[in-house]
Amino acid sequence: MNQYPVTKNQELTVDIIDLTHEGMGIAKVDGYPLFIENALPGEKVTIHVLKVGNKFGFAKVKDFLKKSPDRIENADERYIRTGIAPLAHLSYEKQLLFKQQQVENVMKKVAKMPDVAVLPTIGMTNPTGYRNKAQIPVRRIDGQLQTGFYRKNSHDLMPIENFYIQDPAIDQAIVTIREILQKYQVKAYNETTHEGFLRHIVIRRGHYTHQMMVVLVTRKTKFFKGTQIAQEIAKALPEVVSIIQNINEEKTNVILGEHEQVLYGSSTIEDQLLGKTYQISAKSFYQVNTIQAERLYQTAYDFAKLTAKDIIIDAYSGIGTIGLSVADKVKHVYGMEVVADAVQDAIKNAKLNGLTNTTYVTGNAETVMAQWVKDGIQPTVIFVDPPRKGLTPSFIKASCEMNPEKIVYISCNPATMARDLALFNELGYAAQQVQPVDLFPMTNHVETVVLITRL
Ligand code: SAH
Repeated sequence: MNQYPVTKNQELTVDIIDLTHEGMGIAKVDGYPLFIENALPGEKVTIHVLKVGNKFGFAKVKDFLKKSPDRIENADERYIRTGIAPLAHLSYEKQLLFKQQQVENVMKKVAKMPDVAVLPTIGMTNPTGYRNKAQIPVRRIDGQLQTGFYRKNSHDLMPIENFYIQDPAIDQAIVTIREILQKYQVKAYNETTHEGFLRHIVIRRGHYTHQMMVVLVTRKTKFFKGTQIAQEIAKALPEVVSIIQNINEEKTNVILGEHEQVLYGSSTIEDQLLGKTYQISAKSFYQVNTIQAERLYQTAYDFAKLTAKDIIIDAYSGIGTIGLSVADKVKHVYGMEVVADAVQDAIKNAKLNGLTNTTYVTGNAETVMAQWVKDGIQPTVIFVDPPRKGLTPSFIKASCEMNPEKIVYISCNPATMARDLALFNELGYAAQQVQPVDLFPMTNHVETVVLITRL
């Protein structure tokens, strides 16, 4: 007895009718959805059913009977299988459309604002090699240190040297560092036994400055010949200005631990964004796609139409890039951020750029906003840039209580953004303009800027 229209290991032919927001093809068999990797709308494929669940199943393509004209034929399947670039097989033009449609979809279904227009996604001229940061797991395979990426939904390392969407200089650096570590017989971490030493290699490279930071994430503090290894890495890679050992003793998927020590050079690197200079610590958030981050911010400023009278809040500020980029055009900038190192960076960065009209504080956005309401701070424009889970109702209420003319919402998750826009609307703040910006070409991630104004 089987209550589902398909069974595990069954082979059948289906039509792909849509894409999930993760970029998997969707087929329906008697209304039962099957999710299929590397399959595009309009394609007819023979599939092998892998898994049959309560509400949906998974299958893989055995044969293509009809291919989509939007398919990129030579796409490397490893990028899809690891999730490095789950849309690598879809033409870039259609990726941009896919992202616009996703935002339209949540604006209709979640925000219930079918009349607010969603502009076409702002894309990149050259949509590969854009990431200025890499976080690469290290494992031992056949007695050798290997670097690569996990297969989707697993912790199986697939060795990869060309990561396609990363700055190629970072790809090369990873191989160089791996070879030096191998020479010193540094042991790779083993997740199953929680033994071994080196967990991840994290690299950041300034888009404009080309300054490189290398973070070696280790399970223990004692690093045999650590300083010598760092010296050798710095010698082999002249762009490196900072090598940090980060210690993460936990059994966890979180990459960085709390403690770190400098093995070589400085504890920060510098980069530029919209003409300002920024120092960036290992633990601070910094937009991974510099070119598109500049376009994203510019869109936010264009929406805000800032003047010298404006008092702005830069909420979820990271190292302060959104507020500091325009501090010299407004009266005052207030910012808050939960990671203390990032706030220290923001304060240093204000000084570094000769800005004296900024106040950055460490704290939970909600708590700080409540305090600022009490203190009587009256911003004219509030910029918010929260993580994927979006804003909280109390943050939204505090924002509206401050009575700003405009709120500019920068979002990395359309679903939570749409949810939050509905509450802003109830409180008298209406979404006016919605602009998706492609910060993560070849992936399913969507970034959006929304202008919200007081009614
Ligand atoms: N505006 C910055 C950072 C955006 S990423 C930029 O464009 O670079 C979101 C930031 O929110 C991260 O720096 C993260 O550390 C911070 N964050 C996450 N949860 C928070 C909270 N509850 N309160 C304050 N900041 C938070």
